[in-house]
Amino acid sequence: MDQALKPGLYIVATPIGNLGDLSTRAAAVLGAVAAVACEDTRVTGKLMQHIGKKAKLIRYDDHASDATRDHLLALAAEQAIALVSDAGTPLISDPGYKLVRAAREAGIAVTSIPGASAAITALTLAGLPSDRFLFAGFLPAKDKARRDTLAELSAVKATLVFYETGPRLLDTLGAVDEVLPGREVAVARELTKLFEECRSGSASELIGHYTQHPPKGEIVLVVGPPGEREVSAADADELLREALRDRKPSQAAAEVARATGLDRKMLYARAMELK
Ligand code: SAM
Repeated sequence: MDQALKPGLYIVATPIGNLGDLSTRAAAVLGAVAAVACEDTRVTGKLMQHIGKKAKLIRYDDHASDATRDHLLALAAEQAIALVSDAGTPLISDPGYKLVRAAREAGIAVTSIPGASAAITALTLAGLPSDRFLFAGFLPAKDKARRDTLAELSAVKATLVFYETGPRLLDTLGAVDEVLPGREVAVARELTKLFEECRSGSASELIGHYTQHPPKGEIVLVVGPPGEREVSAADADELLREALRDRKPSQAAAEVARATGLDRKMLYARAMELK
C-alpha cells in the first residue's frame, strides 16, 4: 500500500472515456487499497496498469452471492477496499447499492471518491434546464414498457436524463416524439472521447439525423421539461409575430418551440402563414 487508508469501503469513480479524468485522489485510493471489487477484472486491470499499481481484483455485481458480499464486507472491516465500475461512478446504473447498504448496516465506514458520470456530463452539455432533473437510467427495451415509463414521467416538471445505446436510440426517439411531444431533446454521445458530440433538436429532427447517420458508441439522452404553462393558439401567434419581426420563419419557430415546448414543425407552418 502507498499510504495508510482507514479500513472501510471506498466507492471510486473512474473515467467515462478519457483517462485524464481519473482524479488524483481516486488514483491514490486505488493505489492504496488491499483489494478492488469490480465488474470486469480485465477492464479494471487496465486501469490499474495505467496508474502503475497492483491490487487484488474481485469480481462483483449486485447479483453476486451473499458469500461474495460477506467476503468483501469481512475484508472492508479490517482493511481498505475499493469498489469501481467499468466506467464512471459506481451505483449509477451500475452495481454497488446492495454492497453499500450492507456495509452501512454492518457499521463499516463508506467513503465516496467522486468523479465522472455520463449523466451529469451530458446534463452540463445539453443546454437544457439543469436546476431540476430526474435521472431515469435505462428505459425498458420493450416498446410498450418503454412508452409506459415515458408516460409515467411525462408529468414530471424536470429535465429527464436517460442512458441509451446506439441500436435502440431511434426507437426511443420515436417513443419520445409520440409520448412527450414538443420537448426539446439532446443526444450526448461518446462523452470525453475523440468523437464526442451533443446534438439538440426535437425528437423528430433527431430521428431524421440519426436515420441518415446511425449512431455509434455510448449515448445519454436528455429530454427537456414540459412547458411551464399551457400556451393558447393566440399566445403562440403573438410570440411568433414578435419573433418574426427580426427572424426568418424557421428561426422564429425554433425560438418559440424552445420557449413553449410546442412542436416546431407546427409553429413553422403557422409562421409561414403569419409572415
Ligand atoms: N456508472 C456509469 C456513469 O456514472 O456514467 C454509467 C454506467 S451504465 C452501465 C453505461 C451507460 O452510461 C452507457 O450505456 C451510456 O448510456 C452511458 N455512458 C457511459 N459512458 C458514456 C460516454 N462516454 N458517453 C456517453 N454515454 C456514456
